[in-house]
Amino acid sequence: MTAHRIAVIPGDGIGTEVVPAGLEALQATADRFGLRLHLDTFGFASAAYWQRHGTMLPADWEQTLRGYDAIYFGAVGWPAVVPDHVSLWGSLLQFRRTFDQYVNLRPCRLMPGVRSPLAGREPGDIDFVVVRENTEGEYSSVGGRVFEGTDRETVLQETIMTRVGVDRVLRYAFDLAARRPARHLTSATKSNGISISMPYWDERVAATAGRYPGVRLDKYHIDALAAQFVLHPDRFDVVVASNLFGDILSDLGPACTGTLGIAPSANINPERDHPSLFEPVHGSAPDIAGKGIANPVGQIWCGSMMLEHLGHPEAAAHLLGAVEDVLALGPRGAPLTPDLHGTGTTAELGHAIAERVRERP
Ligand code: ATP
Ligand code: MG
Repeated sequence: MTAHRIAVIPGDGIGTEVVPAGLEALQATADRFGLRLHLDTFGFASAAYWQRHGTMLPADWEQTLRGYDAIYFGAVGWPAVVPDHVSLWGSLLQFRRTFDQYVNLRPCRLMPGVRSPLAGREPGDIDFVVVRENTEGEYSSVGGRVFEGTDRETVLQETIMTRVGVDRVLRYAFDLAARRPARHLTSATKSNGISISMPYWDERVAATAGRYPGVRLDKYHIDALAAQFVLHPDRFDVVVASNLFGDILSDLGPACTGTLGIAPSANINPERDHPSLFEPVHGSAPDIAGKGIANPVGQIWCGSMMLEHLGHPEAAAHLLGAVEDVLALGPRGAPLTPDLHGTGTTAELGHAIAERVRERP
C-alpha cells in the first residue's frame, strides 16, 4: 500500500470549515484506490496561534513541515485580530519561498450545474490552467524612494527575472501543455510597453519552445489577453505568465467560472525537494465564517490536485469526477451551498461528494 504523509493546516475562518469536508472526500478517494494517508493537523498559521504566541508560525516550523509529502491548507487571515499583510507574510509566503514553490497552478473550469457570469457559456467552453511564476518577477522588494518630500519625489521598484527562474516555470508550463490533449500554450507578455524584462520573457519562451515541437504556442499582450479571457475563454488551454500577470489572470479566470468557492490552487515545487501546498483560491471569508455555509468544492478539488501531484492521476480524476457529478445535479438534486443557489451546508455538500466518490463506477 502506498502511504503519504500530509500536513493539514486549516488556518482561519471558513478554512476550518472546508478542510474537514475536503478531508472526508480525500479519505473516501484514498480508501477506494488503496492509498494510505497519514494526516497530521497543525494549528499554526492562524489568528488563534498569533494571539497566543505573537507570531504566525513556531520557530521550528521548517523542520516540522519538511518531512511531509504535501501540505493541505485551508485559508489564513483574520483582519480583526491580525493585519492581513502580517498573517500572509508570516505564514503562506514563508512556505512558498522556503519550499521553493515556484509554480502556482490554477485550473479554471466551468463545471456542470454552475452558472458562468459570461452569457451563453456551457461546461466545456471554459477549461484551462493558469501557470503563474511564483517566486520572482514584478514582486521583488528591490527599489525605494528618492528625493522624498520634495517635488522631485521619485519611486522605483525593480522587476527581477533570472534565466533559471524564468526557464523553470516555462518548462513546467510546456510539459503540462504537452500532456494535455489540446497541446496549446499561451504566453502572457507586454513586450510592446515593458521594454526590457518582457522581451526577455518572450526570448526565453521562444528558446524553450524549440524543445516542444508538438505544442502550439501563441502569445498575447496582457491587456488583450484579459479581454480574451472574457470574450473567448474557449481559446485557452495552458496559460503561462509572470508573477504579476499570473496573479491577475488567476483571479479573472475563476471569476469567469461562476463562484470563488469552487476554485482550487496549488503551489508546487516540481522537483519534489520540498513539500508542495494545496489551498483553495478563496480566503477565510469572515463574512460567512461560522455559519456552516461555505462551499467546500475548492478545498475538495485541491485534494484532487494533491493526489495528482503525489502520482495518483486515476484517483485524482475519480475525485474530480465525483465533484462534477454532484454539481451537475443542481440545487434541487444536491445539497449545494448558497453561492451555488442552493440551501445546503458545507458538511452536507462534503458528505454528498464523499458518498459519490464511494458509489461512482
Ligand atoms: P483574500 O484572503 O485572498 O484576501 P478576501 O478576504 O478578500 O480574500 P475571501 O475570503 O476569499 O476574500 O472572500 C471573498 C468573498 O467571497 C466573500 O464575500 C466570501 O463570503 C465569498 N466566498 C469566499 N469563499 C467562499 C466559499 N468557499 N463559499 C462561499 N462563498 C465564499
Ligand atoms: Mg481574506
